[in-house]
Amino acid sequence: MSEADFFRSGIDEGRLLVRRCLACERAAYPPMPGCPHCGHPEGEIVEAEGAGALYSWTVCHVAFDPDLAAEVPYVVGLVDLPEGARVVARLAIGPEALEAGMAVQAGFPRGSDGSRQLRFLAGPPGREVSK
Ligand SMILES: [Zn+2]
Repeated sequence: MSEADFFRSGIDEGRLLVRRCLACERAAYPPMPGCPHCGHPEGEIVEAEGAGALYSWTVCHVAFDPDLAAEVPYVVGLVDLPEGARVVARLAIGPEALEAGMAVQAGFPRGSDGSRQLRFLAGPPGREVSK
């Protein structure tokens, strides 16, 4: 099992797992051996609440993977979690509805192959997300 397998395993279970530093208590994404915030080598795996704030995004009009050809245009976003990690993931929100800072919530729909995928959905309106 590699250092990052817990992240995929969590998605398979419908859970957003992140590695939280034992020293500064901030989470990181992608999973890595040391803390990118303070350099401390030790961390623990915790389940993130799943709420986040949309930091930025890009709309993909060209499918780099033929399996995604039927899904373009799709949106890939950067989502700031209150736990301290900035996660890269697909958004299940149309480009016209996106606003920087909007509340989003992790979801785990099943893809065409039956596996769960991490997708951020529009969060509850008016919800405040603290960093
Ligand atoms: Zn740290």
